[in-house]
Amino acid sequence: MIKKTLLTPFKTKYNTPPFRIIETSDYLPTITEAIKMAKNEIDTIVNNPDQPTFENTIVALDFSGEQLDRISSIFFNLNSAETNEDIQKIAQEVSPLLSEFSNDITLNEDLFKRVKAVYESKSELNLTEEQSTLLDKKYKGFSRNGANLPEGKKVKLREIDKKLSQLSLKFGENVLAETNKFEMLISDESDLSGLPEGTIEAAKQLAESKDKEGWLFTLDYPSYIPFVTYADNRELRKKITLAAGSKAFKNDELDNKDNVLQITKLRHERANLLGYQTHAHFVLEERMAETPETVLNFSNELLEKAKPAAEREFKNLENFAKDLDNIDRLEKWDGPYYSEKLKQKLYSLDDEKLKPYFKLENVIDGAFTIANKLFDLKFEEIDTIDKYHDDVLTYKVTNTKGDFISVFYADFFPRPGKRNGAWMTSYKPQYILNGENSRPHVSIVCNFTKPTKTKPSLLTFNEVTTLFHEFGHALHGMLANTTYPSISGTSVFWDFVELPSQVMENWCFEKEALELFATHYETGEVIPMELVKKIKESATFHEGMQTLRQLSFGLLDMSWHGQDPIQITDVKAFETEIFKNTSLYPETKETCMSTAFSHIFQGGYSSGYYSYKWAEVLDADAFEYFKEEGIFNKTVATKFKDNVLSRGGTENPMTLYKRFRGQEPKPEALLRRAGLI
Ligand SMILES: [Zn+2]
Repeated sequence: MIKKTLLTPFKTKYNTPPFRIIETSDYLPTITEAIKMAKNEIDTIVNNPDQPTFENTIVALDFSGEQLDRISSIFFNLNSAETNEDIQKIAQEVSPLLSEFSNDITLNEDLFKRVKAVYESKSELNLTEEQSTLLDKKYKGFSRNGANLPEGKKVKLREIDKKLSQLSLKFGENVLAETNKFEMLISDESDLSGLPEGTIEAAKQLAESKDKEGWLFTLDYPSYIPFVTYADNRELRKKITLAAGSKAFKNDELDNKDNVLQITKLRHERANLLGYQTHAHFVLEERMAETPETVLNFSNELLEKAKPAAEREFKNLENFAKDLDNIDRLEKWDGPYYSEKLKQKLYSLDDEKLKPYFKLENVIDGAFTIANKLFDLKFEEIDTIDKYHDDVLTYKVTNTKGDFISVFYADFFPRPGKRNGAWMTSYKPQYILNGENSRPHVSIVCNFTKPTKTKPSLLTFNEVTTLFHEFGHALHGMLANTTYPSISGTSVFWDFVELPSQVMENWCFEKEALELFATHYETGEVIPMELVKKIKESATFHEGMQTLRQLSFGLLDMSWHGQDPIQITDVKAFETEIFKNTSLYPETKETCMSTAFSHIFQGGYSSGYYSYKWAEVLDADAFEYFKEEGIFNKTVATKFKDNVLSRGGTENPMTLYKRFRGQEPKPEALLRRAGLI
């Protein structure tokens, strides 16, 4: 049975989701009905007897499907934060319905005809920047999926898409099977030397769960990472490192070499079919970086600056290993181990020393105070709206004039129905309709250390920066001030979305900000500056080597996707050539990165790996502006709010950024922050 109340405006305070009346069994019928409603709205647009206009086609399309978006947001947010087997089962049923619906729209030729008619008359329409961006976005949603192609090529495109999705799936399955296949059973206790208690305990339990004697290690990160970081036994470190590096590269049925070649060739062919030079050109059209040339110049410039530092760090590390254990040649399986040892020696920073200064409640207040100083926001905890779980905190956000800005949900502690990690999401976007500014409902979800009977929740420093990171995304959502929902808040180009989140992390390292909230939970003493100094220094430990590593992955990605791959026949040889300029460790013939590079061959990061570093350049450059004028400087903060945080995807991000900063982002700020120049 369908609850009609879930498909009409909620009669709740701020129109927030009425969690208490929604039952799990409501989702499938409600979403199915909402899809029908959305289809009718599309039909109305298509069958409109009037000439297509920006209003009756583009705007109508952007505001269509509101009920569907609302109910599916609630459903998928809960599937991440408070799920159970029933919800997961419904997700399996609902997901194909939703992708079918969105395909129906992209492949709807009559709808495209109207969109195209508006697009082609663009120059006569007198559109604002925001309207023009929306029109481009809607048009490209069709054209980038082949809507302009003649029938034969359309068929070809569908074939390629089908093959590509099978190949990516196969690629991922092979990597997973390889990860699961490897087991390293240790029966001699002395081989555990160096490992932390918790790691040994987990390895023992894993062995027991498989009816084995001893300690079992695998290529899963929680097992693999501590092993290569702490195990004193060099031979075993080598064994597990080579196993991790040779996934899907063994000339057997799980080998991915051929899949890599096929995927890159099909992507290239697809891009050509749509009129793009390469796959990277296709992808980057909708990125701040815009072209492969920009990405390459950006990467090479950073590389040039980071390389001398990386080589210096490597030399130091090699000397350190030589002094400590008489290691002659530092190998891949030595890097994490000696890095950790050196780091401990230099900083001896452990979380237990820092945690008393980061009581969760104090950190939340700190984030709110900073948002108040910068952006005039006020957070008031309220208990007048429904929550999906008792742990969730709910806030009403206003500006200093008292205007309602947003609803804010914060959900901090782990529980069985919550997935790992931390994220920001929303239940409702911001938009302006019929002159009314409809405010957003924003949420952050984390998995922080829980309070115990004797201690409050005390955060590790990493958890503190995570909270500020997600809070930065949340501000991007809350401060949104655009007309159209699909380009509001965090709906921006992919290499721009981490700017607001990463920039907020910077305040966690500043004395003036820490004094506001980093006080000892028992004594009230402000965190000692020598600890802050150590935090800062250790944050950039081995930054040169890290930078080189990240850049090498980005360059590999661009090499696969920024040229015609037809000539490439030997995956390993191709990769070795690309890595020549960035590798520090001796080459190992057993390993290959590409055959397990899931980010770009299975996930959505193809031609996008550079964006990690790109976002760092942006956030360092933006924060340097704050530092020049004062980290609580109102003028800079207001420029950031007015030109970035409130503007969503209404214009090209470079335009928005320049308006805030007065110039294009430069890498120097990042290099300075990282201690590389
Ligand atoms: Zn983020």
